[in-house]
Amino acid sequence: MVLRQIMLGLKYVFRKPYTRMYPYKEKAFTTPATRARHILDMDTCIGCRACQLACPADAIKMYRVEGEYPKNRLKIFPGIDYSRCTYCGLCVEACPTGALKMTDYTMEHLITEDKASTLYTPQDLAQPPPGEYRVTLSKETWRPPPSPPPKGKK
Ligand code: SF4
Ligand code: SF4
Repeated sequence: MVLRQIMLGLKYVFRKPYTRMYPYKEKAFTTPATRARHILDMDTCIGCRACQLACPADAIKMYRVEGEYPKNRLKIFPGIDYSRCTYCGLCVEACPTGALKMTDYTMEHLITEDKASTLYTPQDLAQPPPGEYRVTLSKETWRPPPSPPPKGKK
């Protein structure tokens, strides 16, 4: 029994480490379901604040932005504090116009001790992430989570 455990341990001693050197040497591992950096379409945002009200982490603050936004008479748009965001996607679910989306862009630049760099204004969110990314959550793709099985069934 003990010999078997020693042999098992030895097997892994000679294997390459599995740790990914993210973000310094490798890209993050993402899937089509990864939820990371948001994108905001300022032309379709109506400033309703539904995203802010839905956010359980108090990560969204509304900013007033000057400019021509016919659909947003108050000219208020969401910004996100990524030091608070839990990437739950509830803001995307709540957005009635589909103006807010999430991507799989994992923001290696947010590994920082400078809190100011985790604050994204509406204009920051309106800029597509640099490099490759996929839209992974939007009004069109959002699906409710599966219901738990009825009591007594597994
Ligand atoms: S993903 Fe969740 S925590 Fe992050 S801003 Fe949206 S609602 Fe808030
Ligand atoms: S992003 Fe969507 S939910 Fe948030 S203020 Fe704009 S329209 Fe409303």
